[in-house]
Amino acid sequence: MQIDLATLWYLTIGTLLVSAALTLWERQAHPRRARELGIWAGACAVFALGCVVAMNRGLFPGAVGAALTNLLMVLGYLMVLHGAASLDGPARVRGSAAALAALALLWALAGWRFEAAFWNHVAALPIALTCGLTAWTLLRSRSVRGLRSRPVAVAVSAGHGLFYLLRGLVAPLLVERYGPGLLPVFAKVTMYEAVLYSVAMPMTFLALVREEAQAQLLAAARTDFLTGLANRQGFFERGTRMLAEREPDRPFALLAFDLDHFKSINDRYGHAAGDAVLALFARVAREAAGPDALVVRLGGEEFAALLPGQGARAARQVGEDIARLFAEAAAHRDGPGIRATVSVGLAEAGPDRGDLSGLLSAADRALYRAKAAGRNRLEVAAAA
Ligand code: GH3
Ligand code: MG
Ligand code: MG
Repeated sequence: MQIDLATLWYLTIGTLLVSAALTLWERQAHPRRARELGIWAGACAVFALGCVVAMNRGLFPGAVGAALTNLLMVLGYLMVLHGAASLDGPARVRGSAAALAALALLWALAGWRFEAAFWNHVAALPIALTCGLTAWTLLRSRSVRGLRSRPVAVAVSAGHGLFYLLRGLVAPLLVERYGPGLLPVFAKVTMYEAVLYSVAMPMTFLALVREEAQAQLLAAARTDFLTGLANRQGFFERGTRMLAEREPDRPFALLAFDLDHFKSINDRYGHAAGDAVLALFARVAREAAGPDALVVRLGGEEFAALLPGQGARAARQVGEDIARLFAEAAAHRDGPGIRATVSVGLAEAGPDRGDLSGLLSAADRALYRAKAAGRNRLEVAAAA
């Protein structure tokens, strides 16, 4: 390869410092991940420092330069690992500190005597191990599960770890066979790969953090802030999917709810009490509808429950249970202590899959009949 080794060192230091700066800058946009981004930026800076020491290791007495370089590099990789582990919550540093101390001891005991072997081969193994652990940590992380950039981040750490494993285990055999003339080639290949890693590592970690933030925004856009239920958008997105995935002969029902005289509850007890009644209804409906149901707040004091697998009879029971439990909980001394009721419209999907808006309109028409008939009751839509 016609590249000067010193050029590669300078290039690596430059990309690492740029990566550290960009990662630090990104912290402002992602305060929730400021800690992890800070740790990864710090890792890039430590790698850059390690490169500076490595380039000038001849200035240090004996094996001190080589040992210091190796310890700095391993510290950088441990910081990358720590940042990855912190994605799922606070991670401990004791194991990393012990590993670093053990490596320092190893250099002090044997490194100075076999400096060349340590520098060329042994030094690679803790790096391989730490990168492997980083890949494993990302693979198991709950926070980044399902993100598109996760496999890429895993591959970058695993690939880098594999490279160092080969460098530590296979390179000595090749040197033994073909002579030490190979060492400068390995040094250049190592630095070339380091340039690639110093770009790929921060890029994939930034992609993880950005993608996670975007997924959280999307989830928030589908969620009602007051009740924690899905909102209208979530209802149409998830409900349409549920209806499409429904097996043809499996029943499917929809309940539409509208709290009765809710405006006068607000007028009489205040908006905050009204909010508490809405949150109470959401809790009661979610519990009574069961885990398979999709309970949503369509807006204001209007809610809906999609009940896969339930026909009109079972759905009527669920609707009446929700209405009764809600009225009891609202009037209860330990609750808001307010007389509140709800009107309910029920529609069952026909054997053809039908569309969600059609089903909701049918339930809504039944709901208006319930209102007209005096409220606090359930009406069933005529079969489609
Ligand atoms: P009906 O029995 O006919 O449904 O009468 P209603 O008073 O419930 O119906 P109306 O549509 O006249 O009033 C709904 C009220 O719901 C008006 C609005 O101020 C209130 N509301 C809508 N969203 C919220 C909210 O987030 N919090 C509170 N506290 N009130 C809300
Ligand atoms: Mg209404
Ligand atoms: Mg109402």
